[in-house]
Amino acid sequence: MGDRIEAVRFGRYAVPLAHAVSDAKVATGRQRPLSQIDVLTCEITSRDGVGGLGFSYTTRAGCQAQFAHVKEIGELLIGQDPSDIGKVYDMLLWAGASVGRSGVATQAISAVDTALWDLKARRAGLPLAKLLGAHRDSVKVYNTSGGYLQAPIEEVKEKAGLSLKSGIGGIKIKVGQPDMKEDLRRLAAVREHIGQDTPLMVDANQQWDRASALRFGRAVEELGLVWIEEPLDAYDAEGHAQLAAALDTPIATGEMLSSVPELVRLIDLRAVDFLQPDVPRVGGITPYLKVVALADHAHLQVAPHFVMEIHVHLAAAYPRDSWVEHIEWLSPLFEERLEIEGGRMRVPERPGLGLSLAGRAQEWRLDEVGFRGTGR
Ligand SMILES: [Mg+2]
Repeated sequence: MGDRIEAVRFGRYAVPLAHAVSDAKVATGRQRPLSQIDVLTCEITSRDGVGGLGFSYTTRAGCQAQFAHVKEIGELLIGQDPSDIGKVYDMLLWAGASVGRSGVATQAISAVDTALWDLKARRAGLPLAKLLGAHRDSVKVYNTSGGYLQAPIEEVKEKAGLSLKSGIGGIKIKVGQPDMKEDLRRLAAVREHIGQDTPLMVDANQQWDRASALRFGRAVEELGLVWIEEPLDAYDAEGHAQLAAALDTPIATGEMLSSVPELVRLIDLRAVDFLQPDVPRVGGITPYLKVVALADHAHLQVAPHFVMEIHVHLAAAYPRDSWVEHIEWLSPLFEERLEIEGGRMRVPERPGLGLSLAGRAQEWRLDEVGFRGTGR
């Protein structure tokens, strides 16, 4: 017989960053520096006594809207069988159908969906990667958090050195400043500092037009970059396809897209070499799995964006060797730490995602709401 969801609790948190960071969107005046990550958590408890923890996140704005959405639809979860993830997902989607199947509504549902997958894996006594079917027990990892634009180049070089020393295998730096010559200077300095053989990526955070992206790409072909990330507007699939065809350096994008059809368009147009879906942004693990099944079918590599705590499992379960992105911003929220060695992040052996909320997390909680069955 099936299990039943007995209680659900949602929390909204503001997790401060140790230092504010700026990417090219700040350099071009479109956004302010990022100083905190807002997180929506979902904790589910079942009649059989199994628990699940999931979360979604936003930067700058949107988390209050996500919280409001789950507050409105969360009660529907009570009494549902937590094993029937697809059915529960559809139910939540239809409950909010008038606000669409992408963006804030589905990003709110992603916290629930992730909690349901966590619960299913915990019930099986398996890490999520194993429940899905793992291809490896560790995945390649690169660092992003040391390469932001507010950091002087000496600091970027120092942090790159520390990352590599800690066992991380690759370094990504931000580019896309109004003065491209400055990007090229910083990139050359980092390449010289970390050596020719260390995997190196750049991320322009959508701040170039097509001509600038092509000019940059041609200027750096000799540097052997692993990829150029978000060279263009996130929705310019045709532009990315032209760029991917024109350059030897691989193209990566997809982190900003918040529905399966948006990511599938990149696949269909052969717009990327590395697809970069993000579980919380695309609406959860359920839609993520649809996207990466099609990415594999199209022979693409996948390098999921941010949220290494979830993506280490999904990257391990992708047939092709994948990269995960090391950004430690969410680490204070959880008790557990991910192990990194020899350029790779180990898949945790604990059941589920292998995560529990840290005791100090409540310091950052701004809001919470719970639903509970009548105990029939
Ligand atoms: Mg990026």
